[in-house]
Amino acid sequence: MRQMAIYGKGGIGKSTVSANLAAYFAESGLRTWYIGCDPKSDGSMTLLHGRKIPTFLEQMKVGDEEVVFQGFKGINCVETGGPLAGVGCAGRGIIVAVQKLGRDHFREEDDVLIYDVPGDVVCGGFAAPLREKYANEVYIVTSGEYLALYAANNIARGLANLGVALGGIICNSREVENERAAVAEFARRIGSQLIGFVPRSAVVRDCENRGMTVIEGAPNDSQADAYRHLGRSILENRAMAVPTPMEPEDIRVLLRETR
Ligand code: SF4
Repeated sequence: MRQMAIYGKGGIGKSTVSANLAAYFAESGLRTWYIGCDPKSDGSMTLLHGRKIPTFLEQMKVGDEEVVFQGFKGINCVETGGPLAGVGCAGRGIIVAVQKLGRDHFREEDDVLIYDVPGDVVCGGFAAPLREKYANEVYIVTSGEYLALYAANNIARGLANLGVALGGIICNSREVENERAAVAEFARRIGSQLIGFVPRSAVVRDCENRGMTVIEGAPNDSQADAYRHLGRSILENRAMAVPTPMEPEDIRVLLRETR
C-alpha cells in the first residue's frame, strides 16, 4: 500500500487537495484510505457529504468500535483527533489509531493511504506518521507566497532532520505573479520537484459548501481535471529524495528573481 503524508501551512488548502486526491484515487478504482486530524474535520467532511464524524480517540473512549466511515466511492475515512480543538496529543492520536487500524482494518488489497495531518508544531504530531514509518512518501502543499514557502521550507527541514524522502511540492495557486515558476524553482533548490499545479477556482468552495470534493461535485469541470492530473503524477512518481532546505533569506531572493 502506498502511504503518503500531505503537509503544508495551515489554511493553504492541504485538506482540499488531500480529499480531492483521495476522491481521484477512489474514482480510479483504487482502495483508498483517508486519515485526517483536524478539529474542523474539513477533509473527511467533503468525502462524507458534509457529515462530521467522531474521532478515533472519542470512539475508543466510549467503547464504540465504529471508527472507519465509508465516504465517496467507498473511501475509508478516519479522523484521528486530538482530545479538544486546539489541543494536540503529541502524535498519540495517529499512533494509537494506525496501530489499531493496522491490526483490525487495513487489508493487503488496499492501495493508497493519505495522511492529512497538521504539518506544524501546534499539536506535536508532525513527525508521528514518519517516525513510526506509517508514511513513506511525503508531499508539501504551498503557494508562491513568502509565508507559505517559508513554512514549506521548515517542513523540508523537518524531513531532512528525520532523513525522510520528499516526493514533491504541490502548488495550490493563490494567483501570485509568476507563481508556477517561483514554486518550481523553490522545489528545485531544495532538491525536489514541482509535482503539480492546482489553479485557484471558485468551484472548489462551491463544492465544499455542498459537502463534496470537486471530483464528486463538479466532475466535468477543468478543476476536477487539475486534481486528476496531480493524482496521476503522484501515482507515477518514483522520484523521492531527502530535501535540502534553503536559508529563509534566500527564499526572498528567489521570489525577487522570479517576479
Ligand atoms: S498529534 Fe496532532 S495531528 Fe496527530 S493525532 Fe494528535 S492532534 Fe492530531
